[in-house]
Amino acid sequence: MSDVRARFAPSPTGYLHLGGARTALFCRAWARRNKGEFLLRIEDTDAARSREEFVAPILSALEWLGLKWDGEPVFQSARREFYLRAAANLLESGAAYRCYCGPEELAKMRAEQTARGENPRYDRRWRDAQTPPPRDIPPAIRFKTPLDGATRFHDHVKGEMSVENAELDDFVIVRADGTPTYNLACAADDGDMKITHVIRGDDHVMNAFKQILIHRALGGDPPAFAHLPMILSAALDESGAPIVSGDGVARYERMSKRNGAVDVNHYRREGFPASALLNYLARLSWSHGDEEFFPVQEFYGKFNLDAVQKSPARFDLEKLRWLSREHMREMNYKDLRRAGREMRPEDLGNESFWTDIRDADLALTLPRAHTLLELRRESEFFLHRPPGDFALLQEHLGEDNRAAFNDLRAALAVLPEWKAEAIKSAMNNSAKRAGLKFPRLGMPMRTLLTGAGESPDIALVAAALGREETLARLRACDDS
Ligand code: GLU
Repeated sequence: MSDVRARFAPSPTGYLHLGGARTALFCRAWARRNKGEFLLRIEDTDAARSREEFVAPILSALEWLGLKWDGEPVFQSARREFYLRAAANLLESGAAYRCYCGPEELAKMRAEQTARGENPRYDRRWRDAQTPPPRDIPPAIRFKTPLDGATRFHDHVKGEMSVENAELDDFVIVRADGTPTYNLACAADDGDMKITHVIRGDDHVMNAFKQILIHRALGGDPPAFAHLPMILSAALDESGAPIVSGDGVARYERMSKRNGAVDVNHYRREGFPASALLNYLARLSWSHGDEEFFPVQEFYGKFNLDAVQKSPARFDLEKLRWLSREHMREMNYKDLRRAGREMRPEDLGNESFWTDIRDADLALTLPRAHTLLELRRESEFFLHRPPGDFALLQEHLGEDNRAAFNDLRAALAVLPEWKAEAIKSAMNNSAKRAGLKFPRLGMPMRTLLTGAGESPDIALVAAALGREETLARLRACDDS
């Protein structure tokens, strides 16, 4: 076991989204690559935004993806005393101070600064104040950010990062109501959990500077950082159409509920195998030559933080669908069934499809499906007679081909061998005898056997269904 310890630190303010899943994947990959540990920390200190009911779905989405963490998850809500002790240490060493500005005073300060055309910020009035503290205002604790110099770090993705300390506020580390803020809790935990690598989305870059200052003030070394580029998706207008600029270039913006499905569970329900989603997320911001298709184990073996792309990634559903199809084709039937069952765990109780469907039937529909859900929908007719779609049937069966169709049914009933080739030549013969083109018999047969206008080769389907079932389905049109 090496010393590498990476952590994924979701806030339970919603379901696990694609960006979070990518972060977790890269954290785990980095830990696996280095034979280190991958830890999970639930950042639920923000009582107003965190919701307990999001925790279980986040954990189960990670488990479905196979992104299992080492050890027990750490819950920040259970560690409040620890953060308050850290704040007390900072107060004692002079790295933090109490600020007695109530919300009204802060609002006034901001209004005055804005009126003067300045950027609103805390003016450090309690930093070196000699005035006695007011009795009726509970203090917040602020970090005493150095007034000069710069804070720097090397980001594994973004390169050299630096900020003038004067640009950083004396930010709050414990609110007046006694709750520790994200930056304090995060830095205190990363130190305590001996995290060596903080890998997360690049919306946290500015926090890294503040956290580095906290680490140092607490007497520890900051971890290494790698901030992952954001995921963009095509911008959509109100009608859901992509926004294209005058020169024909599609506009992209940060992926959010507005311009794409971000919830990992959405992709699970839609039938994308976990292996395909992982492959897609890995490839979204990291590359190894031109390889597009790879299993996650291979990714773990090759992953290197320094090869993560700097530029924002663009989400492309078609590419994900393509990868999904490739992954499904690579699976053996056992794995395919397992992946199918995992698609919608809430249905497990009455879900017999993945047990009942035969391998030979799946073999026929697999080349047509891009997702497990499509595979299931396309294969359903093998197990259940399709409800008669008379509109579709009428389109394909009429005065001109009815007699030939009856002729075909009679031929099929006495076919010496129930094999696809024999079925196909019976169809050809009946069509030829009536002077019709093959689809004039193929289409009504397809409609009756599968309930759909598209399916695998219809002779193969009939062969798979068996003679009795095929003839029974072909008789359904007699009622129409
Ligand atoms: N809890 C933060 C979030 O969900 C992540 C913070 C971190 O990784 O440091 O965005």
